[in-house]
Amino acid sequence: MHFTEPVYRNPYWPTFPLLQITQGCTHNKCKFCTMYKDVDFRIQPVEWIEEDLQEIADMKPNAKTIQLLSANPLVLTYDKLAPILEMIKKYLPKMEMVYMAGRVTDVKNKTVEQ
Ligand code: SF4
Repeated sequence: MHFTEPVYRNPYWPTFPLLQITQGCTHNKCKFCTMYKDVDFRIQPVEWIEEDLQEIADMKPNAKTIQLLSANPLVLTYDKLAPILEMIKKYLPKMEMVYMAGRVTDVKNKTVEQ
């Protein structure tokens, strides 16, 4: 798996496994949060995402939930996010729920249909 520290598992989300599709936080300005202060934001290479999904599929082929990392993967545009969600469904066909964190500004860049 291609994880970059820090890896944060939300304790309130009953999710397994974790899949990193971004690193860091695009905002990184909340005064109470130092989690990603030393981490530059970047999008995980698609090859890494696919390799990780293959590993997850080998370990947990019937996974129904998954948590996307890092801080705010929802910041990705629909055109970048949709193919990743389709890839998840391809490798994990029983997938029902994808959890990810996002800021209001991340949601703002999506249309209602998206
Ligand atoms: S948006 Fe989240 S991860 Fe980013 S700085 Fe704020 S609390 Fe931390």
